[in-house]
Amino acid sequence: MGSQSYAIIGMGRFGASVAQALYSMGYDVMVMDENEERIQDHINIATHAVQADSTDEQALREVGIRNFDVVVVAIGADIQASILTTLILKELGVKMIVAKAQNERHGQVLYKVGADRVVFPERDMGLRVAHNLISPNVLDFVELAEEYSIAEVAASEAMDGKSLTELDVRARFGVNVMAIKSGNSFNIAPSATDTIQEGDILVVIGHNDDLKKFEEES
Ligand code: ATP
Repeated sequence: MGSQSYAIIGMGRFGASVAQALYSMGYDVMVMDENEERIQDHINIATHAVQADSTDEQALREVGIRNFDVVVVAIGADIQASILTTLILKELGVKMIVAKAQNERHGQVLYKVGADRVVFPERDMGLRVAHNLISPNVLDFVELAEEYSIAEVAASEAMDGKSLTELDVRARFGVNVMAIKSGNSFNIAPSATDTIQEGDILVVIGHNDDLKKFEEES
């Protein structure tokens, strides 16, 4: 694990945040940007910082891009550069390419040219914030498939001291409580009689419509 190496291309806010998190966890991180100033700004959050244009195949070869376990294409605004970079990385034989998309169409193209995984940070964060606005108790929200998601919901005062049977969320809302986080303990197989305390975090899975009802009540 500690020997995994990552290359992050594009030091915008997203790329820099990915690089910083990996570097602070002790991984080998190379960052690349065509902008000299961006490289200077991020030299301290990487093992190597390289100023190069990632659409230049030769430049990618020179840094030995194939040797990185994962390459993240974090170029946003310049969609053409993001697509071209992904295509070249694929042709050079990079094992795992993660690319950031500005929108659905961009994402589809990234998959077509060889991205193994496409992330939509703005869309996903927007989704989370929206769910958090429905109820401040919703801490996180992750879409699993088109209509199904997992939500992390803090237990309200109304749930305090109640068991899962008493709350009866499955019958009332059609959602399932998969796990309960209580302080540092994490109960991943909650039983019907387990009681919930205010502030516990419920990890709930279900259809988006049902989760919405559950969130509104939380
Ligand atoms: P964020 O929202 O994360 O800040 P963004 O979508 O605004 O990102 P951009 O500013 O478009 O991101 O790009 C991120 C970085 O990618 C910039 O620092 C830019 O210099 C760099 N970049 C763009 N094209 C290339 C390229 N061909 N080669 C290397 N770096 C590039």
